[in-house]
Amino acid sequence: MQSQHSCWPFLIGPLFALGLVSSSVSAETPTGSEAPYPLDSLERTISPKGKMKCPNLNMTRHKGKYVRYHKPVFIYQGFQERLERFESIAADVAVEIYGRRPRQIVHLGTYNCRRIRRIPDLLSEHALGNAIDIEGFDFGPARNPTERASSPHRRLRRGFKVRVDSHWDRDKGVEALHARFLHTLTERLLEEEVFRVLLGPAFPGHQDHFHFDLAPYRLVSL
Ligand SMILES: [Zn+2]
Repeated sequence: MQSQHSCWPFLIGPLFALGLVSSSVSAETPTGSEAPYPLDSLERTISPKGKMKCPNLNMTRHKGKYVRYHKPVFIYQGFQERLERFESIAADVAVEIYGRRPRQIVHLGTYNCRRIRRIPDLLSEHALGNAIDIEGFDFGPARNPTERASSPHRRLRRGFKVRVDSHWDRDKGVEALHARFLHTLTERLLEEEVFRVLLGPAFPGHQDHFHFDLAPYRLVSL
């Protein structure tokens, strides 16, 4: 178990060195309660220059089981179960706050054979199809009297959009409700240990999206 994770200090080190990880960020190895993941022992270090080659993994196309994606995602097979947990939690939190599920999850991509920006000798988890970038959620109109009655605001009986970019920091009116949805969602994902890396507006380059992945280390900055 320990030997499998020996790459952690090398992976997390550059993040500290670049000042990407501040004191408000928790960065630690996953606790014993977290199950090992099939890609934990996969080598992420690559040559910082030249043409890169991404590992050949079992990939799958996933439309979304509990909430669909606006466009199917192309991911590592083992990541699918985590995305399904994410969809299920997003559906539950949406019902708690808005009285109905999102119509679709809007993402900015999953698989992309590339290096980590600013750390060119490390493979991005996107290069393994082991990460997703979430822009927000689209809700359709309330479809029946129950949904209309449980909508917390008249305006929300119509369709609406929730976006990390426009709503994460809002504290007034209907928009504060969208902020609550986004914050409750990430809190629930953390509690249930669905992902190991969760990045959001607090992390450089993530003003307009959440990045979730299953790298072999833990990093949370939302
Ligand atoms: Zn990302």
